[in-house]
Amino acid sequence: MLLSKQRRIECLDLEPFDLVVVGGGAAGFMTAVTAAENGVKRIIILEGSSKLMEKVRISGGGRCNVTNALWIPNELAENYPRGGIKLLESFNRFAAGDLYDWFEKRGLKLKIESDNRVFPVSDSSLDVIDCLKKNAITKGVEISTKFFVKEIFKTSNNFFNICNSEKDLIITKNIILSTGGHPSGHKLAKSLGHSIVRPVPSLFTFTTKDNKLNECSGVSIKNIGIEIQVNNKSFKNRGDLLITHWGFSGPVILKLSSIAARELFDQKYRFNLIIRWSDLEYKDLKEKINNFKLNNGRLNLINLRPLPLLTKRLWIFLLNKMDINKDKKWSDLLASEREKMINTLLKDKYTISSKGPFGEEFVTSGGVSINEVNFKSMESLICPGLFFSGEVLDVDGITGGFNFQHCWTSGWLAGRAISKLFNEVTNQ
Ligand SMILES: Cc1cc2nc3c(=O)[nH]c(=O)nc-3n(C[C@H](O)[C@H](O)[C@H](O)COP(=O)(O)OP(=O)(O)OC[C@H]3O[C@@H](n4cnc5c(N)ncnc54)[C@H](O)[C@@H]3O)c2cc1C
Repeated sequence: MLLSKQRRIECLDLEPFDLVVVGGGAAGFMTAVTAAENGVKRIIILEGSSKLMEKVRISGGGRCNVTNALWIPNELAENYPRGGIKLLESFNRFAAGDLYDWFEKRGLKLKIESDNRVFPVSDSSLDVIDCLKKNAITKGVEISTKFFVKEIFKTSNNFFNICNSEKDLIITKNIILSTGGHPSGHKLAKSLGHSIVRPVPSLFTFTTKDNKLNECSGVSIKNIGIEIQVNNKSFKNRGDLLITHWGFSGPVILKLSSIAARELFDQKYRFNLIIRWSDLEYKDLKEKINNFKLNNGRLNLINLRPLPLLTKRLWIFLLNKMDINKDKKWSDLLASEREKMINTLLKDKYTISSKGPFGEEFVTSGGVSINEVNFKSMESLICPGLFFSGEVLDVDGITGGFNFQHCWTSGWLAGRAISKLFNEVTNQ
């Protein structure tokens, strides 16, 4: 039931709730639906904004990449630069395959794309929202929007008192913080005794001041090796790269931004990026270039590219960058120019000056310390009755549906654990 403001005020400080979910996002809804389906009676979701599951709506370009079809828990856990080891405990109970069945049993048809990403068959994130909302409402979960939780106190009889800024009061036996990366959730967790790992952005693109690169804007390169060097550390990965008018984007960039999120933040996003246009060893590439000179000497450099992945636009850009005349014949390539070419194709360096210009980071890295939470039940190890699900925790994954999978898994585990507690008390 969706509560209006009037109705909401009336329900305040009546009988305690069995579960209050703070945050109406993916994790909060999964917790509420699971708890309700497993017998918990009085549940309310308190959402601070006027919109429910807004991030689900905008996710995956409006299609919502709900998970990734990696069915083996170990393989799934490898996609989380932070929290993966702890998550394994959780994934052994509820992983991507369980989630797939979960949605299908509740009427949301899913499909697996060639890169393993899972989407609704309808390609509409609204269907994911509908499915969760419908299941919550059918099971009697109450939902109150524009209820921004300001304070939570634990009373001497082990209830939680929850207040918004208007000092409305709600009392509950169990509470879950599913507040995503919002600072207020971290503040609430801290007030209940938890430590917070400093939040920093993850999953963003890179800006370079190399103006000439924008001549290649729109060029995409498949499965290329990229290295970033930051604060005397090196991070390497392979994947598809997209050159944009401001710098670099594409799956390999997002992945590196996630793996090195903390180091990049510490260095204020100033670092070196190296593109490995060729995977060959120095001596093999030298032999290849020498053969080119020998066998294709009559052709101009511009008309014969030494590596198949180099598009004409890219090759011209690189020749200009190397200061080699593009109209020169291969036979006229000087030894010094050949050296420059080999070194650039093996290690093409760019200076990154900041994150991408649109503040498009997808997730927060950091949050409630994972060492203070039981990853089988998602209950706090510090404050009994307090649970966590989703991005509020210091867990984050790379792109591909992994961040939602963590929300679903933690929400499901918390919902089950809360229902176990509830059923034990009611059966006494
Ligand atoms: C543009 C974009 C696209 C994305 N696409 C994908 C994708 O395709 N696949 C994927 O796996 N991940 C994707 N992500 C990441 C994914 O959306 C998040 O990991 C996920 O939504 C986190 O869910 P959550 O429920 O933990 O938090 P949120 O979705 O952030 O929900 C938290 C809710 O809590 C509310 N709240 C916060 N504080 C309070 C308070 N004090 N009181 C009451 N309410 C409060 C907030 O208003 C919010 O509604 C994307 C993210 C973005 C931004």
